[in-house]
Amino acid sequence: MTVFQSWGRIPSVRQDTFFPKWRNTLAIGDRDSLLLPYGRGRSYGDSCLNDGQTICVTSRLNHFIHFDREQGILRCESGVGLDEILQLVVPYGWFLTVTPGTRYITVGGAIANDVHGKNHHLAGTFGCHVTAFELLRTTGERLCCSVTENAPMFRATIGGLGLTGLITWAEIRLKKITTSFIDSETIRFENLAEFFVLSEESDRDWEYTVAWIDCLAQNTSLGRGLFMRGRHSEQLMLKSGNTRGRRLSIPVNAPGFLLNQYTIRLFNEIYYHKNRKKQCASHAHYEPFFYPLDSIDNWNRMYGRRGFYQYQCVIPLADGQAIIAALLTTIAVSGMGSFLSVLKRFGDIASPGMLSFPRQGVTLALDFPNYGDKVLALFEQLDNLVMDANGAVYPAKDARMSAEAFQHYFPQWRDFSRYRDPGMSSSFWRRVTGE
Ligand SMILES: Cc1cc2nc3c(=O)[nH]c(=O)nc-3n(C[C@H](O)[C@H](O)[C@H](O)COP(=O)(O)OP(=O)(O)OC[C@H]3O[C@@H](n4cnc5c(N)ncnc54)[C@H](O)[C@@H]3O)c2cc1C
Repeated sequence: MTVFQSWGRIPSVRQDTFFPKWRNTLAIGDRDSLLLPYGRGRSYGDSCLNDGQTICVTSRLNHFIHFDREQGILRCESGVGLDEILQLVVPYGWFLTVTPGTRYITVGGAIANDVHGKNHHLAGTFGCHVTAFELLRTTGERLCCSVTENAPMFRATIGGLGLTGLITWAEIRLKKITTSFIDSETIRFENLAEFFVLSEESDRDWEYTVAWIDCLAQNTSLGRGLFMRGRHSEQLMLKSGNTRGRRLSIPVNAPGFLLNQYTIRLFNEIYYHKNRKKQCASHAHYEPFFYPLDSIDNWNRMYGRRGFYQYQCVIPLADGQAIIAALLTTIAVSGMGSFLSVLKRFGDIASPGMLSFPRQGVTLALDFPNYGDKVLALFEQLDNLVMDANGAVYPAKDARMSAEAFQHYFPQWRDFSRYRDPGMSSSFWRRVTGE
Protein backbone atom coordinates (compact mmCIF):
# COMPACT_ATOMS: atom_id res chain seq x y z
CA MET A 1 0.00 0.00 0.00
CA THR A 2 1.14 3.54 -0.75
CA VAL A 3 0.69 6.71 1.31
CA PHE A 4 -1.56 9.24 -0.43
CA GLN A 5 -2.75 12.77 0.25
CA SER A 6 -5.14 14.91 -1.76
CA TRP A 7 -4.59 18.59 -2.58
CA GLY A 8 -5.20 19.85 0.97
CA ARG A 9 -2.81 17.16 2.31
CA ILE A 10 -5.33 16.16 5.00
CA PRO A 11 -5.71 13.26 5.69
CA SER A 12 -2.87 10.88 4.80
CA VAL A 13 -4.13 7.43 3.92
CA ARG A 14 -2.62 4.12 2.84
CA GLN A 15 -4.22 2.57 -0.21
CA ASP A 16 -3.49 0.25 -3.12
CA THR A 17 -3.38 1.61 -6.65
CA PHE A 18 -4.56 0.12 -9.90
CA PHE A 19 -3.85 1.77 -13.30
CA PRO A 20 -6.29 0.58 -15.99
CA LYS A 21 -5.13 1.04 -19.56
CA TRP A 22 -7.52 -0.24 -22.24
CA ARG A 23 -11.04 1.05 -21.82
CA ASN A 24 -12.67 -1.62 -24.00
CA THR A 25 -11.18 -4.66 -22.32
CA LEU A 26 -10.91 -3.21 -18.85
CA ALA A 27 -12.32 -5.20 -15.90
CA ILE A 28 -12.50 -3.61 -12.46
CA GLY A 29 -14.27 -6.36 -10.47
CA ASP A 30 -12.62 -9.43 -8.90
CA ARG A 31 -10.93 -7.53 -6.10
CA ASP A 32 -11.03 -8.24 -2.43
CA SER A 33 -11.06 -4.55 -1.60
CA LEU A 34 -13.40 -1.68 -2.36
CA LEU A 35 -12.50 0.47 -5.34
CA LEU A 36 -12.61 4.23 -6.01
CA PRO A 37 -11.85 6.00 -9.31
CA TYR A 38 -9.11 8.63 -9.00
CA GLY A 39 -8.31 11.48 -11.40
CA ARG A 40 -5.50 13.83 -10.38
CA GLY A 41 -6.33 14.14 -6.69
CA ARG A 42 -7.14 17.86 -6.97
CA SER A 43 -10.01 17.47 -4.55
CA TYR A 44 -8.99 18.95 -1.23
CA GLY A 45 -10.14 16.37 1.28
CA ASP A 46 -10.91 12.66 1.37
CA SER A 47 -13.59 12.30 -1.33
CA CYS A 48 -10.87 11.06 -3.73
CA LEU A 49 -9.20 8.81 -1.12
CA ASN A 50 -9.94 5.24 -0.09
CA ASP A 51 -8.08 4.40 3.11
CA GLY A 52 -7.13 0.72 3.39
CA GLN A 53 -8.76 -0.04 0.03
CA THR A 54 -7.86 0.53 -3.65
CA ILE A 55 -7.97 3.48 -6.03
CA CYS A 56 -8.30 3.11 -9.78
CA VAL A 57 -6.07 5.83 -11.23
CA THR A 58 -7.22 6.99 -14.68
CA SER A 59 -3.96 8.60 -15.83
CA ARG A 60 -3.59 6.03 -18.65
CA LEU A 61 -7.17 6.46 -19.83
CA ASN A 62 -5.95 9.60 -21.54
CA HIS A 63 -6.97 9.31 -25.19
CA PHE A 64 -9.13 11.57 -27.30
CA ILE A 65 -11.77 9.60 -29.19
CA HIS A 66 -13.50 12.11 -31.46
CA PHE A 67 -13.57 15.90 -31.91
CA ASP A 68 -16.32 17.36 -34.08
CA ARG A 69 -14.77 20.73 -34.98
CA GLU A 70 -17.94 21.98 -36.65
CA GLN A 71 -20.33 21.28 -33.77
CA GLY A 72 -17.87 21.57 -30.87
CA ILE A 73 -18.57 18.09 -29.48
CA LEU A 74 -15.65 16.23 -27.90
CA ARG A 75 -15.50 12.58 -26.87
CA CYS A 76 -12.51 11.45 -24.79
CA GLU A 77 -11.45 8.99 -22.12
CA SER A 78 -12.13 10.03 -18.57
CA GLY A 79 -8.48 10.52 -17.56
CA VAL A 80 -7.98 13.30 -20.13
CA GLY A 81 -7.23 16.61 -18.37
CA LEU A 82 -9.02 19.89 -18.94
CA ASP A 83 -5.54 21.32 -19.72
CA GLU A 84 -5.16 18.80 -22.56
CA ILE A 85 -8.63 19.61 -23.88
CA LEU A 86 -7.85 23.33 -23.99
CA GLN A 87 -4.61 22.65 -25.82
CA LEU A 88 -6.52 20.72 -28.46
CA VAL A 89 -9.64 22.81 -28.92
CA VAL A 90 -8.70 26.48 -28.40
CA PRO A 91 -6.80 26.80 -31.71
CA TYR A 92 -10.03 25.67 -33.45
CA GLY A 93 -12.10 28.34 -31.70
CA TRP A 94 -13.65 26.24 -28.92
CA PHE A 95 -13.47 26.47 -25.14
CA LEU A 96 -14.70 24.54 -22.11
CA THR A 97 -18.29 25.59 -21.48
CA VAL A 98 -17.63 25.37 -17.73
CA THR A 99 -14.21 25.36 -16.09
CA PRO A 100 -13.22 25.39 -12.40
CA GLY A 101 -10.34 27.46 -10.98
CA THR A 102 -7.73 24.89 -12.05
CA ARG A 103 -7.29 23.18 -15.42
CA TYR A 104 -5.27 20.33 -13.92
CA ILE A 105 -8.22 18.05 -13.33
CA THR A 106 -9.64 15.18 -15.37
CA VAL A 107 -12.95 14.90 -17.18
CA GLY A 108 -13.94 12.04 -14.83
CA GLY A 109 -13.21 14.21 -11.78
CA ALA A 110 -15.11 17.16 -13.28
CA ILE A 111 -18.20 14.99 -13.77
CA ALA A 112 -17.99 13.18 -10.42
CA ASN A 113 -17.93 16.50 -8.52
CA ASP A 114 -20.13 18.31 -11.06
CA VAL A 115 -17.71 21.22 -10.85
CA HIS A 116 -18.68 24.85 -11.31
CA GLY A 117 -16.93 27.96 -12.58
CA LYS A 118 -17.18 31.73 -12.79
CA ASN A 119 -20.09 31.50 -15.25
CA HIS A 120 -22.44 29.43 -13.11
CA HIS A 121 -25.06 32.18 -13.36
CA LEU A 122 -25.26 31.67 -17.15
CA ALA A 123 -24.04 28.13 -17.83
CA GLY A 124 -24.79 26.04 -14.72
CA THR A 125 -22.36 23.24 -13.88
CA PHE A 126 -19.97 21.06 -15.90
CA GLY A 127 -22.58 18.28 -15.86
CA CYS A 128 -25.06 20.49 -17.76
CA HIS A 129 -22.78 20.13 -20.81
CA VAL A 130 -22.09 16.40 -20.63
CA THR A 131 -24.06 14.72 -23.40
CA ALA A 132 -23.15 11.07 -22.65
CA PHE A 133 -20.66 8.79 -20.94
CA GLU A 134 -19.98 5.11 -20.40
CA LEU A 135 -20.08 3.74 -16.87
CA LEU A 136 -18.26 0.53 -15.99
CA ARG A 137 -19.53 -1.18 -12.84
CA THR A 138 -17.55 -3.64 -10.74
CA THR A 139 -20.00 -6.36 -11.89
CA GLY A 140 -18.57 -5.90 -15.39
CA GLU A 141 -21.77 -4.23 -16.62
CA ARG A 142 -21.21 -1.31 -19.05
CA LEU A 143 -23.92 1.34 -19.23
CA CYS A 144 -24.11 4.08 -21.81
CA CYS A 145 -25.72 7.00 -19.94
CA SER A 146 -27.32 10.24 -21.16
CA VAL A 147 -30.47 12.24 -20.44
CA THR A 148 -32.40 9.72 -22.53
CA GLU A 149 -30.53 6.45 -21.86
CA ASN A 150 -30.13 5.10 -18.31
CA ALA A 151 -31.17 8.57 -17.18
CA PRO A 152 -31.31 7.86 -13.41
CA MET A 153 -27.76 6.48 -13.50
CA PHE A 154 -26.71 9.55 -15.53
CA ARG A 155 -28.10 11.81 -12.79
CA ALA A 156 -26.56 9.73 -10.00
CA THR A 157 -23.10 9.71 -11.60
CA ILE A 158 -22.93 13.48 -12.21
CA GLY A 159 -21.85 14.77 -8.81
CA GLY A 160 -21.85 11.12 -7.64
CA LEU A 161 -18.37 11.30 -6.05
CA GLY A 162 -17.08 8.37 -8.11
CA LEU A 163 -19.32 5.92 -6.27
CA THR A 164 -21.57 4.67 -9.08
CA GLY A 165 -18.81 3.11 -11.20
CA LEU A 166 -15.86 4.10 -13.36
CA ILE A 167 -16.60 6.56 -16.18
CA THR A 168 -14.48 5.20 -19.05
CA TRP A 169 -15.25 7.90 -21.65
CA ALA A 170 -17.41 11.00 -21.78
CA GLU A 171 -18.76 13.35 -24.41
CA ILE A 172 -18.98 17.08 -23.71
CA ARG A 173 -20.36 20.12 -25.49
CA LEU A 174 -17.86 22.97 -26.00
CA LYS A 175 -18.38 26.69 -26.34
CA LYS A 176 -17.52 28.79 -29.41
CA ILE A 177 -14.93 31.56 -28.97
CA THR A 178 -13.28 33.91 -31.42
CA THR A 179 -10.07 34.63 -29.50
CA SER A 180 -8.13 33.16 -26.60
CA PHE A 181 -8.27 36.48 -24.76
CA ILE A 182 -10.51 37.77 -22.04
CA ASP A 183 -11.65 41.35 -21.55
CA SER A 184 -12.02 41.92 -17.85
CA GLU A 185 -12.55 44.55 -15.18
CA THR A 186 -11.55 44.55 -11.53
CA ILE A 187 -13.56 46.75 -9.19
CA ARG A 188 -12.79 47.42 -5.55
CA PHE A 189 -15.83 47.23 -3.23
CA GLU A 190 -15.98 48.48 0.34
CA ASN A 191 -18.27 45.94 2.00
CA LEU A 192 -20.67 43.04 1.57
CA ALA A 193 -23.67 45.15 0.58
CA GLU A 194 -21.64 46.58 -2.31
CA PHE A 195 -20.67 43.06 -3.38
CA PHE A 196 -24.33 42.07 -3.71
CA VAL A 197 -25.18 45.16 -5.78
CA LEU A 198 -22.16 44.68 -8.09
CA SER A 199 -22.86 41.01 -8.44
CA GLU A 200 -26.50 41.43 -9.41
CA GLU A 201 -25.64 44.15 -11.89
CA SER A 202 -22.66 42.29 -13.42
CA ASP A 203 -24.37 38.90 -13.71
CA ARG A 204 -26.80 40.50 -16.17
CA ASP A 205 -24.23 41.18 -18.88
CA TRP A 206 -20.88 39.69 -17.91
CA GLU A 207 -20.24 36.04 -18.61
CA TYR A 208 -17.77 35.45 -15.80
CA THR A 209 -18.00 37.00 -12.35
CA VAL A 210 -16.25 36.29 -9.05
CA ALA A 211 -14.93 38.24 -6.08
CA TRP A 212 -11.92 37.92 -3.83
CA ILE A 213 -12.64 39.09 -0.30
CA ASP A 214 -10.54 40.14 2.65
CA CYS A 215 -11.89 37.66 5.19
CA LEU A 216 -10.22 39.40 8.14
CA ALA A 217 -11.82 42.83 7.61
CA GLN A 218 -14.51 43.67 10.17
CA ASN A 219 -17.22 46.22 11.07
CA THR A 220 -17.97 48.66 8.22
CA SER A 221 -15.37 46.95 6.00
CA LEU A 222 -16.80 43.45 6.52
CA GLY A 223 -16.71 41.61 3.18
CA ARG A 224 -14.64 44.22 1.33
CA GLY A 225 -12.78 42.95 -1.71
CA LEU A 226 -12.10 42.98 -5.42
CA PHE A 227 -14.83 42.09 -7.91
CA MET A 228 -13.64 40.52 -11.17
CA ARG A 229 -15.82 40.27 -14.26
CA GLY A 230 -14.87 39.15 -17.73
CA ARG A 231 -15.98 37.94 -21.13
CA HIS A 232 -14.30 36.30 -24.12
CA SER A 233 -12.75 39.01 -26.21
CA GLU A 234 -13.65 39.51 -29.83
CA GLN A 235 -10.40 41.29 -30.67
CA LEU A 236 -7.09 39.65 -31.65
CA MET A 237 -6.41 36.22 -33.09
CA LEU A 238 -6.65 32.78 -31.57
CA LYS A 239 -3.46 31.59 -29.97
CA SER A 240 -2.40 28.18 -28.78
CA GLY A 241 -4.32 26.46 -26.00
CA ASN A 242 -1.76 26.99 -23.26
CA THR A 243 0.84 29.73 -22.91
CA ARG A 244 4.40 28.70 -22.23
CA GLY A 245 5.19 31.46 -19.75
CA ARG A 246 7.73 31.03 -16.95
CA ARG A 247 6.25 29.01 -14.11
CA LEU A 248 6.83 29.59 -10.45
CA SER A 249 7.11 26.72 -8.04
CA ILE A 250 7.02 26.27 -4.27
CA PRO A 251 9.99 23.89 -3.97
CA VAL A 252 9.59 22.81 -0.33
CA ASN A 253 7.03 22.94 2.45
CA ALA A 254 6.83 26.45 3.89
CA PRO A 255 7.83 26.59 7.58
CA GLY A 256 4.82 26.88 9.90
CA PHE A 257 5.87 30.25 11.42
CA LEU A 258 5.36 32.00 8.04
CA LEU A 259 1.65 31.53 8.36
CA ASN A 260 0.10 33.41 11.19
CA GLN A 261 -2.66 35.95 11.57
CA TYR A 262 -0.21 38.85 11.08
CA THR A 263 1.20 37.64 7.73
CA ILE A 264 -2.27 36.69 6.53
CA ARG A 265 -3.69 40.06 7.58
CA LEU A 266 -0.81 41.84 5.84
CA PHE A 267 -1.34 39.87 2.62
CA ASN A 268 -5.07 40.69 2.62
CA GLU A 269 -4.39 44.37 3.24
CA ILE A 270 -1.82 44.62 0.42
CA TYR A 271 -3.95 42.63 -2.01
CA TYR A 272 -7.00 44.76 -1.35
CA HIS A 273 -5.03 47.88 -2.23
CA LYS A 274 -3.11 46.36 -5.15
CA ASN A 275 -4.93 48.52 -7.70
CA ARG A 276 -4.56 52.17 -7.00
CA LYS A 277 -7.68 52.97 -8.98
CA LYS A 278 -11.10 51.78 -7.84
CA GLN A 279 -11.72 50.20 -11.24
CA CYS A 280 -9.21 48.72 -13.76
CA ALA A 281 -9.71 47.09 -17.15
CA SER A 282 -7.54 44.44 -18.78
CA HIS A 283 -7.23 42.43 -21.98
CA ALA A 284 -5.23 39.26 -21.36
CA HIS A 285 -4.86 35.58 -22.25
CA TYR A 286 -7.47 33.37 -20.61
CA GLU A 287 -4.97 31.55 -18.34
CA PRO A 288 -4.33 34.25 -15.71
CA PHE A 289 -8.04 35.07 -15.67
CA PHE A 290 -9.31 31.51 -15.10
CA TYR A 291 -6.33 29.81 -13.52
CA PRO A 292 -4.22 32.28 -11.49
CA LEU A 293 -3.05 29.55 -9.10
CA ASP A 294 -2.01 27.15 -11.85
CA SER A 295 0.99 29.35 -12.56
CA ILE A 296 2.55 28.32 -9.22
CA ASP A 297 3.46 24.64 -9.12
CA ASN A 298 2.76 22.92 -5.78
CA TRP A 299 1.23 26.04 -4.24
CA ASN A 300 -0.34 23.80 -1.63
CA ARG A 301 3.13 23.53 -0.02
CA MET A 302 2.69 27.15 1.01
CA TYR A 303 0.64 25.86 3.96
CA GLY A 304 3.49 23.71 5.23
CA ARG A 305 3.70 20.06 6.13
CA ARG A 306 0.52 20.07 8.19
CA GLY A 307 -1.62 20.89 5.17
CA PHE A 308 -4.75 23.02 5.03
CA TYR A 309 -8.50 22.84 4.88
CA GLN A 310 -10.82 24.50 2.47
CA TYR A 311 -14.32 25.41 3.59
CA GLN A 312 -16.78 26.07 0.76
CA CYS A 313 -20.46 26.55 1.41
CA VAL A 314 -23.50 27.80 -0.45
CA ILE A 315 -26.27 29.83 1.20
CA PRO A 316 -29.73 30.35 -0.37
CA LEU A 317 -30.08 33.85 -1.79
CA ALA A 318 -32.93 34.96 0.48
CA ASP A 319 -30.69 34.95 3.56
CA GLY A 320 -27.44 35.25 1.61
CA GLN A 321 -26.22 38.61 2.81
CA ALA A 322 -27.09 38.11 6.48
CA ILE A 323 -25.60 34.61 6.72
CA ILE A 324 -22.45 35.47 4.77
CA ALA A 325 -22.02 38.44 7.14
CA ALA A 326 -22.40 36.08 10.12
CA LEU A 327 -19.90 33.59 8.65
CA LEU A 328 -17.35 36.33 7.91
CA THR A 329 -17.74 37.88 11.35
CA THR A 330 -17.20 34.48 12.99
CA ILE A 331 -14.06 33.94 10.88
CA ALA A 332 -12.69 37.47 11.42
CA VAL A 333 -13.21 37.21 15.19
CA SER A 334 -11.41 33.85 15.24
CA GLY A 335 -8.41 35.48 13.47
CA MET A 336 -7.95 32.27 11.45
CA GLY A 337 -8.62 33.56 7.97
CA SER A 338 -6.75 32.82 4.80
CA PHE A 339 -5.17 34.36 1.72
CA LEU A 340 -7.66 33.02 -0.76
CA SER A 341 -11.28 33.81 0.00
CA VAL A 342 -13.77 33.74 -2.82
CA LEU A 343 -17.38 34.89 -3.04
CA LYS A 344 -19.69 34.24 -5.99
CA ARG A 345 -23.40 34.12 -6.71
CA PHE A 346 -24.70 30.85 -8.18
CA GLY A 347 -27.53 31.29 -10.69
CA ASP A 348 -30.80 29.39 -10.95
CA ILE A 349 -29.81 26.73 -13.52
CA ALA A 350 -30.53 23.41 -11.81
CA SER A 351 -27.56 21.04 -11.48
CA PRO A 352 -28.25 17.76 -13.28
CA GLY A 353 -26.68 15.56 -10.58
CA MET A 354 -28.58 13.98 -7.70
CA LEU A 355 -25.86 14.93 -5.22
CA SER A 356 -24.51 18.05 -6.98
CA PHE A 357 -23.39 20.80 -4.63
CA PRO A 358 -24.20 23.97 -6.67
CA ARG A 359 -27.66 25.43 -6.16
CA GLN A 360 -29.04 28.95 -6.39
CA GLY A 361 -27.45 31.16 -3.76
CA VAL A 362 -24.16 32.65 -2.80
CA THR A 363 -21.03 30.57 -2.33
CA LEU A 364 -18.11 31.38 -0.06
CA ALA A 365 -14.80 29.47 -0.25
CA LEU A 366 -11.85 29.94 2.09
CA ASP A 367 -8.57 28.19 2.81
CA PHE A 368 -7.46 27.69 6.41
CA PRO A 369 -4.02 26.55 7.53
CA ASN A 370 -4.27 23.43 9.65
CA TYR A 371 -4.39 24.96 13.14
CA GLY A 372 -5.62 21.66 14.60
CA ASP A 373 -8.52 21.54 17.06
CA LYS A 374 -9.17 25.26 17.11
CA VAL A 375 -9.88 25.43 13.37
CA LEU A 376 -12.05 22.30 13.60
CA ALA A 377 -14.05 24.04 16.34
CA LEU A 378 -14.45 27.07 14.07
CA PHE A 379 -15.80 24.83 11.27
CA GLU A 380 -18.44 23.46 13.69
CA GLN A 381 -19.62 27.02 14.28
CA LEU A 382 -19.72 27.69 10.53
CA ASP A 383 -21.58 24.42 9.92
CA ASN A 384 -24.25 25.40 12.43
CA LEU A 385 -24.84 28.67 10.56
CA VAL A 386 -24.94 26.88 7.18
CA MET A 387 -27.31 24.16 8.45
CA ASP A 388 -29.69 26.72 9.99
CA ALA A 389 -29.76 28.59 6.66
CA ASN A 390 -30.48 25.37 4.69
CA GLY A 391 -27.22 25.74 2.82
CA ALA A 392 -24.63 23.08 2.04
CA VAL A 393 -20.88 22.43 2.23
CA TYR A 394 -18.97 21.16 -0.85
CA PRO A 395 -17.80 17.52 -0.43
CA ALA A 396 -14.99 18.00 -3.01
CA LYS A 397 -13.37 20.46 -0.62
CA ASP A 398 -14.08 18.68 2.63
CA ALA A 399 -11.96 16.60 5.00
CA ARG A 400 -13.93 16.92 8.23
CA MET A 401 -17.70 17.50 8.05
CA SER A 402 -19.75 15.33 10.38
CA ALA A 403 -22.22 12.67 9.23
CA GLU A 404 -25.01 14.79 10.72
CA ALA A 405 -23.98 17.85 8.70
CA PHE A 406 -23.60 15.92 5.43
CA GLN A 407 -26.99 14.26 5.82
CA HIS A 408 -28.55 17.63 6.56
CA TYR A 409 -26.98 19.23 3.48
CA PHE A 410 -27.73 16.29 1.17
CA PRO A 411 -30.92 14.61 2.42
CA GLN A 412 -31.20 12.88 -1.00
CA TRP A 413 -28.14 10.74 -0.15
CA ARG A 414 -30.32 7.73 0.72
CA ASP A 415 -31.94 7.74 -2.73
CA PHE A 416 -28.50 8.16 -4.24
CA SER A 417 -27.26 5.10 -2.30
CA ARG A 418 -29.44 2.86 -4.47
CA TYR A 419 -27.22 3.71 -7.45
CA ARG A 420 -23.91 3.28 -5.68
CA ASP A 421 -21.81 0.42 -7.00
CA PRO A 422 -21.57 -1.97 -4.00
CA GLY A 423 -17.94 -2.62 -4.94
CA MET A 424 -17.08 1.07 -4.59
CA SER A 425 -16.52 3.35 -1.64
CA SER A 426 -14.36 6.22 -0.41
CA SER A 427 -12.94 7.48 2.86
CA PHE A 428 -15.39 10.40 2.63
CA TRP A 429 -18.42 8.20 2.05
CA ARG A 430 -17.66 5.89 4.96
CA ARG A 431 -17.09 8.92 7.20
CA VAL A 432 -20.34 10.70 6.37
CA THR A 433 -22.75 7.77 5.90
CA GLY A 434 -21.18 4.88 7.81
CA GLU A 435 -21.94 2.67 4.72
C1 LIG B 1 -6.67 25.30 -7.33
C2 LIG B 1 -8.01 24.60 -7.35
C3 LIG B 1 -9.11 25.29 -7.76
C4 LIG B 1 -10.36 24.66 -7.80
N1 LIG B 1 -11.44 25.37 -8.22
C5 LIG B 1 -12.65 24.79 -8.28
C6 LIG B 1 -13.77 25.49 -8.77
O1 LIG B 1 -13.67 26.66 -9.14
N2 LIG B 1 -14.95 24.84 -8.84
C7 LIG B 1 -15.08 23.53 -8.48
O2 LIG B 1 -16.20 23.00 -8.57
N3 LIG B 1 -14.04 22.83 -8.01
C8 LIG B 1 -12.83 23.42 -7.92
N4 LIG B 1 -11.74 22.71 -7.47
C9 LIG B 1 -11.93 21.30 -7.09
C10 LIG B 1 -11.66 20.35 -8.27
O3 LIG B 1 -12.09 20.92 -9.48
C11 LIG B 1 -12.45 19.06 -8.06
O4 LIG B 1 -12.16 18.49 -6.83
C12 LIG B 1 -12.21 18.03 -9.18
O5 LIG B 1 -13.22 17.07 -9.10
C13 LIG B 1 -10.84 17.35 -9.10
O6 LIG B 1 -10.70 16.51 -10.24
P1 LIG B 1 -9.59 15.35 -10.33
O7 LIG B 1 -9.56 14.93 -11.77
O8 LIG B 1 -8.33 15.76 -9.70
O9 LIG B 1 -10.32 14.20 -9.53
P2 LIG B 1 -10.00 13.59 -8.08
O10 LIG B 1 -9.84 14.69 -7.12
O11 LIG B 1 -8.92 12.57 -8.19
O12 LIG B 1 -11.39 12.85 -7.82
C14 LIG B 1 -12.55 13.61 -7.62
C15 LIG B 1 -13.77 12.69 -7.63
O13 LIG B 1 -13.95 12.20 -8.94
C16 LIG B 1 -14.07 10.79 -8.95
N5 LIG B 1 -13.56 10.35 -10.24
C17 LIG B 1 -12.37 10.68 -10.82
N6 LIG B 1 -12.27 10.07 -12.02
C18 LIG B 1 -13.40 9.35 -12.20
C19 LIG B 1 -13.87 8.49 -13.24
N7 LIG B 1 -13.16 8.23 -14.35
N8 LIG B 1 -15.08 7.89 -13.08
C20 LIG B 1 -15.84 8.13 -11.98
N9 LIG B 1 -15.45 8.94 -10.98
C21 LIG B 1 -14.24 9.56 -11.09
C22 LIG B 1 -13.24 10.35 -7.74
O14 LIG B 1 -13.66 9.09 -7.25
C23 LIG B 1 -13.58 11.46 -6.74
O15 LIG B 1 -14.79 11.20 -6.09
C24 LIG B 1 -10.49 23.28 -7.43
C25 LIG B 1 -9.35 22.58 -7.00
C26 LIG B 1 -8.11 23.22 -6.97
C27 LIG B 1 -6.90 22.44 -6.52
